[in-house]
Amino acid sequence: MPLALFDIKTPLDPLRDQLRAAALGVLEDGQYILGPNVGAFESEFADYLGVNHAIGVANGTDALTIALRAMGVGPGDDVVVPSFSYYASAEAIPPTGARPVFCDVDPETFCVTADTVRAALTPRTKVVIAVHLFGNVAPVAEIEALGIPVLEDAAQAAGSTVAGRKAGALGTAATFSFFPSKNLGGFGDGGAVVTNDAEIADRVRVLRFHGSSDQVTYDEVGYNSRLDEMQAALLRVTLPELDGWAAGRRAAGRHYEDVGLGELVALPQPTPDSAPAWHLYVIRHPLADPLAEALGRVGIGAKAYYRTPIHRQPAMLPYAHGISLPATDEVAAAHLAIPMNPALSRIDAIEVVSAIGGVSA
Ligand SMILES: *Cc1c(COP(=O)(O)O)cnc(C)c1O
Repeated sequence: MPLALFDIKTPLDPLRDQLRAAALGVLEDGQYILGPNVGAFESEFADYLGVNHAIGVANGTDALTIALRAMGVGPGDDVVVPSFSYYASAEAIPPTGARPVFCDVDPETFCVTADTVRAALTPRTKVVIAVHLFGNVAPVAEIEALGIPVLEDAAQAAGSTVAGRKAGALGTAATFSFFPSKNLGGFGDGGAVVTNDAEIADRVRVLRFHGSSDQVTYDEVGYNSRLDEMQAALLRVTLPELDGWAAGRRAAGRHYEDVGLGELVALPQPTPDSAPAWHLYVIRHPLADPLAEALGRVGIGAKAYYRTPIHRQPAMLPYAHGISLPATDEVAAAHLAIPMNPALSRIDAIEVVSAIGGVSA
């Protein structure tokens, strides 16, 4: 049986009627920008995470830029960010006027650590972006203990927890993406900034609306970056499903472990006390590309997302002079995402593992 890398459609099937009703409600109501569903989703998402404020924005990349500016980042500042991440984690920094400073990751967890961050600190470091990569949870408290505020990039970690607390509720602020393939995916672009800090929340609200708090006076140059009313209405239908989907992603990870995947490849290691809602299930193998091709030939989706790490991307070379990130280069070469979705069964896992076993043998 073919098995796709991910499946965003099946989990939505039981929700079709509710989604249709929510979409029609917005069409009939006629308020398309910052209407009642945006406000309601913001408070429901804040409650879900256990934070005081959630502010909807246009996408997860804007969420990072706006959150950084709301945290006071500007020209002359440095922001530490892992090179092994989705490109947007770093791309969001230069528009604030600050400089990205790339740090390494732990190859077993794919996340930054207090040590990799410490090695990248400069006298100008204003914020550390801790990416919860693939749904694993970066050690936010240990990084904060270095004395620098943490912005969590939780785009891939909706539904992940650490010691019972939600990823996105750990740092000074956090950002989410509702891109359709994310753990809490919308039906177009969308994102959010969340925080317990009322001042940061107010600044985010102003920045997302052209730098204006009253829509008449423009105090600073901001953005036109709002979560659509339509997306908010649809996300209100899917948010109550998130924990169930996260449990399914965890169970899928356990199926892979139980059926012996760890004997064939290096498995992703959850960080201490974390329960990752695996956004992608990413293994490591010395021959990752031939393995992906072989899996593809038998209809099993497999993909390397970040073969070229961010510090080696052409647009980022001005920020990457003379840096050496050995673990990043190692995982960039060896990582491979294999099928993951909230409904992935033990039988699916057996199929993937026997296919990998067939190739490795
Ligand atoms: C998806 C993603 C983003 C960007 O989100 P968009 O909504 O696509 O702009 C940022 N960081 C990480 C880690 C992501 O996975």
